[in-house]
Amino acid sequence: MTRRFFGIPIVALAGFVLLLSGCGVFFGSVEPAGTASPTPTATTATAGTSATSSTTAVAETATPQPRRTAEPGRERSLPDVELVLGHIEQLAVVIGSREAGSDGERAAAAYIEGVLAATGYETAVEPFTTATRIDSSVAMTAGGASVRPFMMRGSATGEATGRLVYGGLGAAEELAPLDLEGAVLLVERGVLPFGEKARNAEAAGVVALLIANNEDGVYSGTLGDVPAGIPVVAIRQAEGEMLRPLASRGVKLMVRASIDEIEVTSQNVVGRAGTSCEVYLGAHYDSVPEGPGANDNASGTALLLEVARVHRAEGVCVVAFGAEEIGLFGSQAFVDAHDVSGARLMLNFDMAGRLDGPVIVGDAGLTEELLDALASAGEFPIAAGVFPPFASSDHVSFSEVGVPSVTITSGDDPAIHTSEDTAGRISVAALETMLGIVDVVLGSVAAGDPS
Ligand SMILES: [Zn+2]
Repeated sequence: MTRRFFGIPIVALAGFVLLLSGCGVFFGSVEPAGTASPTPTATTATAGTSATSSTTAVAETATPQPRRTAEPGRERSLPDVELVLGHIEQLAVVIGSREAGSDGERAAAAYIEGVLAATGYETAVEPFTTATRIDSSVAMTAGGASVRPFMMRGSATGEATGRLVYGGLGAAEELAPLDLEGAVLLVERGVLPFGEKARNAEAAGVVALLIANNEDGVYSGTLGDVPAGIPVVAIRQAEGEMLRPLASRGVKLMVRASIDEIEVTSQNVVGRAGTSCEVYLGAHYDSVPEGPGANDNASGTALLLEVARVHRAEGVCVVAFGAEEIGLFGSQAFVDAHDVSGARLMLNFDMAGRLDGPVIVGDAGLTEELLDALASAGEFPIAAGVFPPFASSDHVSFSEVGVPSVTITSGDDPAIHTSEDTAGRISVAALETMLGIVDVVLGSVAAGDPS
């Protein structure tokens, strides 16, 4: 591991900067660059170089020595994947999980502000308070693993305890032979609407219903027009698989369905170059509590910081959003607090660390404009697309107030929102590809010559 490499104390900083600009040291935990994608700009990315946890020092002490293009008359900084790797390591390794309202999120905000200030932006940290929901719970009365469910829309709130029974898909004919009076019923998602499963269960005397997902990840759903008289919650597929064998052992479960609201104070970090904001560049820097959110979204934040450095110009404003994972609260708070209506466009970066069908999601006209710019600049593996079910990101808050906005993402990643979303899974090749794409895009929409 490069841990030793991570361990380079801050004092070695000077040597380190040289390292960055001169040559590279292999960053073991990041997959070495495969074949760099054909970006036209001579991206600086060389195989497997990276920064260490002393990156913080870099941000605090001096603007990194950027590499510059030699194109005649267009002298400018070139995006540097090593700097992106350094930001990811700082956010997802040194800081780690950055849950909304947590110390980790605050530490990340301080780091981001330091980097933006070091690259010449006028910075501000803008706190906001939002309510987040503390959702339901399922616990075994006799101890054992607990489950983190989501209350279905239309579910009754409250608590119920009963012996666990498994009921297949929850169809009436599947439940008929079962003794369900006073039971907690576990069924699978699929085939029947959630509302029908709930009605069948309630009619059979069930006191609470768990509906296990039929694919990876979390989900939430609605019972439709007829609310249930019992708690009905959604659980993950793995949780259903853990509970199912217990049904035959008469285990008792206590199900609590509720939505409690607690106040969370988070913050956006803003960097302004000049007096107006024509182009907004954004990314959320918070993560879920379950893991360090390397791909989601230390990678997008790191990319934001690097393209903000390269494309700093009058009219470019940069916003790192807090509290996105609990409901786009940071970007919502930003557009509530600022009149963004004069902006020409907003580009949001959410996941850049693993290529899995990169897409541009959002405003159709802007998407087309960006894809045209990319098409005339070279071949780039990105297309217009949509988010996976139930997913969203921060460009939506800007779209809702009329700013043409898109999210540029490297694609869906099954590991996000889990403890598996670590820096070790980040691909240098993916970062280079996304950096190349965003560099071309920003070149085409630039508000003014880089200052
Ligand atoms: Zn995200």
